[in-house]
Amino acid sequence: MNIEEFRVHGKEMVDYICNYMRTLEGKRVTANVDPGYLRPLLPNEAPMKAESFDAIMRDVEYKIMPGITHWQHPRFHAYFPSGNSFPSILADMLSDAIGCIGFSWAASPACTELETIVLDWFGRALGLPEEFLAEPESSNGGGVIQGSASECILVTMLAARAQAIRALRQQAPHMEDSAFLPRLVAYCSTEAHSCVEKAAMICLVKLRVLEPDDRCCLRGHTLEAALAEDVAQGLVPFFVSTTLGTTGCCAFDKLQEIGPVCKRYPGIWLHADSAYAGNAFICPELRPLMAGIEYADSFNTNPNKWLLVSFDCSCMWVRDRVKLTSALAVDPLYLQHANSAESIDYRHWGIPLSRRFRALKLWFVIRSYGLSGLQTYIRRHIRLAQRFEAKLKKDKRFEMLNEVRVGLVCFRLRDSDDELNQELLASINASGKLHMIPARVRSRYALRFCVVHEHASDREIDWAADAIAELAGEVLAARCSAPMPIVTTTIHDQNQNQRQLHTPQTQQPKQLGVVSEEEEFGNKSPKSPAPLDKRLVRKFSFTRAVSRDAYRRSRSKTSLHDGATPIMVVEEPRPSIVDEDVFGGCESR
Ligand SMILES: *Cc1c(COP(=O)(O)O)cnc(C)c1O
Repeated sequence: MNIEEFRVHGKEMVDYICNYMRTLEGKRVTANVDPGYLRPLLPNEAPMKAESFDAIMRDVEYKIMPGITHWQHPRFHAYFPSGNSFPSILADMLSDAIGCIGFSWAASPACTELETIVLDWFGRALGLPEEFLAEPESSNGGGVIQGSASECILVTMLAARAQAIRALRQQAPHMEDSAFLPRLVAYCSTEAHSCVEKAAMICLVKLRVLEPDDRCCLRGHTLEAALAEDVAQGLVPFFVSTTLGTTGCCAFDKLQEIGPVCKRYPGIWLHADSAYAGNAFICPELRPLMAGIEYADSFNTNPNKWLLVSFDCSCMWVRDRVKLTSALAVDPLYLQHANSAESIDYRHWGIPLSRRFRALKLWFVIRSYGLSGLQTYIRRHIRLAQRFEAKLKKDKRFEMLNEVRVGLVCFRLRDSDDELNQELLASINASGKLHMIPARVRSRYALRFCVVHEHASDREIDWAADAIAELAGEVLAARCSAPMPIVTTTIHDQNQNQRQLHTPQTQQPKQLGVVSEEEEFGNKSPKSPAPLDKRLVRKFSFTRAVSRDAYRRSRSKTSLHDGATPIMVVEEPRPSIVDEDVFGGCESR
């Protein structure tokens, strides 16, 4: 493609994007395809001969688009928002064209300097403590853009680990670094994101997962008791990861209680993960939710979740950047440059060497909307979440499970078992009208509704609440007429495999004239996934929420059917009654 062709196709692509955005509302939210759908549609081998742009775009339209879950759809209410806006898309386009790899100041001075400046802007706008900013020159702090919150937590844990090992080595200089690992303990609550567990796994340290209070917030006294107990055992607490806005139900750990506890153990690094909710702190009235931030050593939030910046843009600030970089710096000759001493080299702030020019999109978005425009956006989402909550509260069939302080509402059917709520969620997702995912809130299965779309309005939120109420009516009615499922008792052995013990016979003969829920469901929506999938979806949650050994992927490829991508399996009671039909035998029915 030469530059003139690019000029033409670039404009066509913008038109295609505009058309996509404009027609999104008429599409199903989730893809309606089976696993493996794409392979038969594409050639087995890469083309030897060049193909035209038009041919490629035709395949995009007819082969790729049918397999897309539309995260920017106005009725996508799953997970958290995937930030997106036109200024961000344009900035990323420019970043790709510049194509610089900003690992050091010299590798592209503007790339580094803009990142430092925009993170100071953003940090100030959030009301973070001054020590987190790179300005003034005397400051030890600063911000950096990482690819994801998971990386923010990993690198802060690595920095904390390096700091702890340095301290321990002073007492035992002859020991190898790894010899101290068995003594190190990190802490988080059961509500923390699974990436904390992943970080601990990578760091080869123990993670103690603490129980939050009955509002899902980690409390100071809980941490204090755990620290005292572990220190008495000769262990070394070195890292506490708190969450401001948990993924499951958006609870806020009590940082103002946890901070002072950590201060009593000078070796502890206190991190605040606010990947989603942190963006809301650009609104001063929401800052009470981060009370205690002055105790934290580091903080992260993802504008690529809730501030209209496209993935990847996870912002992280540290109080002491030397503590961070000393855990990550290696300095071979070919990467040194004349200005090393007086400039920031972001390669020492994270894992990759190569870095995209990501500050550009954050800068474009902040300038295009202005802080006031971004505040309006955040406030509207919060108001809409509260509107949704108010609507559901009026309907006595629902019960609310979280305090709605930002854009997330957790609810379930009142006086019902988990099973019925799983049915409801499965119906919602299989309808293709809305997309939502589950979470566990105080060990109860919850449906999770997030306000996501940039231009979400009263109309869409009311429509969603009405659609959910209608599907709830169907699920409740079907419950009364459904035949009992085949139930198999299983136990889990140590490898978490399910071993079949026996199959108690509880299936009832099918009554003539009674429409089972599956049949009814199938009749309504012929393109909906088969009943098998409805059953599978209830097995999955994307948040750990939380059992330490809950990581177990589905054994069935068909688990992807409902579009609710199974990331992790919801904790199951053990020994448990498991509906074996979930994993087999259904097709024959
Ligand atoms: C989404 C989320 C994460 C993970 O974010 P990634 O950027 O995808 O790694 C971590 N913590 C919290 C609280 C989150 O909500």
